Amino acid sequence: MKIFITGGAGYIGTHTCVELLDNGYEIVVYDNFSNSSVEALRRVETITHKSFTYISGDIRDETLLSNSMVGCDAVIHFAGLKAVGESVAKPLEYYDNNVNGTLCLLRAMQKNTIKTIVFSSSATVYGDPEFLPLTEDHPLRTTNPYGQTKLVVEEILRDLYASDPQWKIMILRYFNPVGAHESGLIGEDPQGIPNNLMPFIAQVAIGRRDYLNVFGDDYSTHDGTGVRDYIHVVDLAHGHLKALQALSVPQCTAINLGTGTGYSVLEVVKAFEVASGNNIAYQISPRREGDIAACYAHPQKAKELLHWSAMKSLETMCRDTWNFQTKNPKGYG
Ligand code: NAD
Ligand code: UDP
Repeated sequence: MKIFITGGAGYIGTHTCVELLDNGYEIVVYDNFSNSSVEALRRVETITHKSFTYISGDIRDETLLSNSMVGCDAVIHFAGLKAVGESVAKPLEYYDNNVNGTLCLLRAMQKNTIKTIVFSSSATVYGDPEFLPLTEDHPLRTTNPYGQTKLVVEEILRDLYASDPQWKIMILRYFNPVGAHESGLIGEDPQGIPNNLMPFIAQVAIGRRDYLNVFGDDYSTHDGTGVRDYIHVVDLAHGHLKALQALSVPQCTAINLGTGTGYSVLEVVKAFEVASGNNIAYQISPRREGDIAACYAHPQKAKELLHWSAMKSLETMCRDTWNFQTKNPKGYG
C-alpha cells in the first residue's frame, strides 16, 4: 500500500513516516518545507534503512499535487500552519493554507479516485471544556483562527462523506504531542522562541533560555497551573497506522488521540528535571490569553475502534525530548 503524506517532513509527519516504513508501507512525502527541512527526511531514511520519494511542493499547487499522488492508495494530511498566536495575527494565511489547501487536496484526490484520508485535527476544536475527560461528542467550538480552520476542515470532510459515502475518512484529534524518536535523530525543531511548553523547558534545561514563564498558577487545578494531556509522538504516529488499518470500510469518524491523563505545568517541569538531571528555573507569569485550565482526552473510542492506546509515560516523553535536545542542541541546524 502506498501512502501520500502531506507535511510529512514535519514533527509528527517524520515520526509517522518511520512507523509506516517500519510496517512495510510505501510512502510519498509532499511538503513545501515552510516549517521543516530535507534533513529530517534523510534522518527518517537513516532510522528505517529505507528510501522513499519526497517532493517539494505546496498543497495549494493543485496540478503538482495531483500529479504527485498518482499511484497512491491513501493520504495522511499533516500539512498546515499550527501556531495559535500567529493565526490571530495572520488569519487569512491560516485559512488559505489550512482550508483552501485542504480543498485543493480533496479535489486532487477526487481526480485520482483516492478516497481514503487521515486528517490531523486537534483537541482545540473542543474549546473550553464543558466536561472532562473530553469525549468525541463534546460540543465543538473554537476561540481562534487556527482552531477554526481545523473545525471547518472537519465539517468539509463530514459533508464530503455525506455526499459520497464511499469515502474512508478518519479525523484524529490530537491532544499535546511531545517527545522524540528514541534514536534522538528526529524530534521537534521549533523555529525561534518555542510557543509550546515541552520544547521551551528543553531549551531552558540546555541553557538556551534563562527560565520558563509558567503562565498562571491560579487555575482551578490541583496546583493552580494548566493541565494538559501530553502524548508521546511515537504513540501518536502509531495511532496513524492503526487509523489507516481501521479504514478498510467507508466511514467518517472523529477520534481522540490522547493518553487520558492530565499533567500540570509544574509536574512536567519536575519530570523534566529528573529526566535531564538539570534544574529548570521558572517564574510565575500572568495567564496566557486564550489558555484554558485543563484539557484531557477520554481515550476509549480509540481503544475500541482503532485497538490503540498510548503506552509511553511522561518520564519517557521527557527522556526522549532531552535525548533529542542534547544530540541536536540547535535542532536540525
Ligand atoms: P509541523 O509544522 O512540524 O509539520 C507540518 C508540515 O507541513 C511542515 O513540514 C510544513 O513545512 C508543511 N506545510 C505547511 N504548509 C504547507 C503547504 N501549504 N504545503 C505543503 N506543506 C506544508 O507540524 P506538526 O506538529 O507535525 O503538525 C502536523 C499537523 O498536526 C498540523 O496540521 C497541525 O495543525 C496538527 N496538530 C499538531 C499539534 C501539535 O501540537 N504539534 C496538535 C494538534 C494538531
Ligand atoms: N505553558 C507555560 N509556559 C510556556 C508554554 C506553555 O506555562 O512557555 C503552559 C500553557 O499555559 C499550558 C501548558 O503549558 O497550560 C501547555 O501549553 P502548550 O502551548 O504546550 O499547549 P496548548 O496550550 O496548546 O495546550
